[in-house]
Amino acid sequence: MPAPARASSPAPSAGPVGAVHALTVGRVRVRPKNIAGTGTPMLWWTLTARTWSDWLPVHVFVVEHERGTVLFDTGQSRASVTEPDYYPRGPLGWVYRRQAAFRVEPEDELVTQLAEIGHPVSSLSLAVISHLHQDHAGNVAALAGTPVLVSAAELALLDERTPELHGVLPAHVRAPGVTFTPVHVAPTDDPLLAPFGADHDIHGDGTLLLVPTPGHSPGSMSLLIRRGDAPPLLLVGDVTYDHTLLPRGIVPDVGDRPTQLETARRIVALQSLLPGLRVLAAHDPATLTALAAPH
Ligand SMILES: [Zn+2]
Repeated sequence: MPAPARASSPAPSAGPVGAVHALTVGRVRVRPKNIAGTGTPMLWWTLTARTWSDWLPVHVFVVEHERGTVLFDTGQSRASVTEPDYYPRGPLGWVYRRQAAFRVEPEDELVTQLAEIGHPVSSLSLAVISHLHQDHAGNVAALAGTPVLVSAAELALLDERTPELHGVLPAHVRAPGVTFTPVHVAPTDDPLLAPFGADHDIHGDGTLLLVPTPGHSPGSMSLLIRRGDAPPLLLVGDVTYDHTLLPRGIVPDVGDRPTQLETARRIVALQSLLPGLRVLAAHDPATLTALAAPH
């Protein structure tokens, strides 16, 4: 098997942020409405869809910072393709399998790839999870002992009666030894963050900023990386599967549509305030090229 596709953006010439890496920790195919929604109810397209997308990447990101290396998202667990009991039984498990199919080969595994790029799990200072869907939180069990930041709104899903209805599998998210740190954004008067009005500055130095980008899930967050003379990056999780759709107001038919459209407008507004901003989505085939493009 070929090695999993990866890309890196070299370290800027100055500042606390170093290189940023994207890894491909598996492949997914989804239904067309999961990419380009039209307002169709999720249950309807889940029941009626007859076609799949191409196989798309499942990306995670590694951000080097002088105060420690940060992992953004954890990807899909290989156990989901090897263990028959990974998904809920009955109709709910059937729905999960109707909505997405995954490929995770042994060489795709997160822990293996982190070691290969010189950032083994034991060296991570913290991790951020954009939202708790299986293909973003799937490998959280590998992060025992590493602080894991998740929005407070997303963590609240774990207390619902049936988190599985929100795409959250508590049997795998609540992993032994894993400690979640809830993120509460605070109001900011930074004019460049005006579209969001609130953020969480991970290190307090203005370089790694979590901003609320709800809609796809109630507590989805994106990570804005500001890095000196290099173009800023926005890691958006599943806000979009194709960054060219956001300016056209096309969002997935997964989640709360008005909130998704508002989030899309805010990201487009951020792009006008931060020229050169690169929007990097977890399943966008263009993400690796955009990350590796010269400054
Ligand atoms: Zn998702």
